[in-house]
Amino acid sequence: MQETTLLLNVFYLYIYMIQDIFTMKIYSSSQFRFLFFFSIILFATTTKAQNEAYSTVYNNEIADTTFVNLKDYSKDFIYDMKYATEDNFLKAKVYDCAECVLRYKTVKALVAANKEFMKNGCKIKIYDCYRPLSIQKKMWEIVSNPEYVADPKKGSIHNRGGAVDISLVNADGVELEMGTNFDFFGIQASHNYKKFPVSVLANRKYLKTVMIKNGFNSFDSEWWHYNLKTGLKDKVSNQTWKCD
Ligand SMILES: [Zn+2]
Repeated sequence: MQETTLLLNVFYLYIYMIQDIFTMKIYSSSQFRFLFFFSIILFATTTKAQNEAYSTVYNNEIADTTFVNLKDYSKDFIYDMKYATEDNFLKAKVYDCAECVLRYKTVKALVAANKEFMKNGCKIKIYDCYRPLSIQKKMWEIVSNPEYVADPKKGSIHNRGGAVDISLVNADGVELEMGTNFDFFGIQASHNYKKFPVSVLANRKYLKTVMIKNGFNSFDSEWWHYNLKTGLKDKVSNQTWKCD
């Protein structure tokens, strides 16, 4: 806004000066020289103002949909990235390294949720974040059941950078009891399955309540999966991330 006002003021000043010069009907060469130099100053001023406007936006604002690495925004997460190991249902290490890449808006919401958990001595443990579409296809070949793996034709919210697979750890780093392991493909993984001790149901409910409060949706058949509500329609992506 400031740059727009500056440009307008310079423009009006320029118009007034031209009017003055011509209404005085004095067409001396010195006045034309003045006009010429004033035009150069005006051009330089407006160009500088425009450059400042663009660079300000570029330097200070990250678009909400930009893919970023969670570790660059918080050191308070515990990582157990299963797909960067062979300890997963694919029985294969499908990520070159354990990085949690997400859209910036997902990171902001996740960091806010984690801060809330930390007030109670807990932290979020991360199992999976953004997932390239090519990996989604491998998963679908093994488990072609949309209750547990999204069809790559539609794409998962993981492929859009808006989903996380998470659990909670206590102050000693021990995972809270959630009833099943991550990626357990059975009814016991569902939020609707209630034949667990009260403590397990309470842990799941605590995770769900705080995540929903911070902008996420739960997924009925997987207690560990959360989708950012505003990330459902972002584009599916098939990119890899940097490994050190
Ligand atoms: Zn998931």
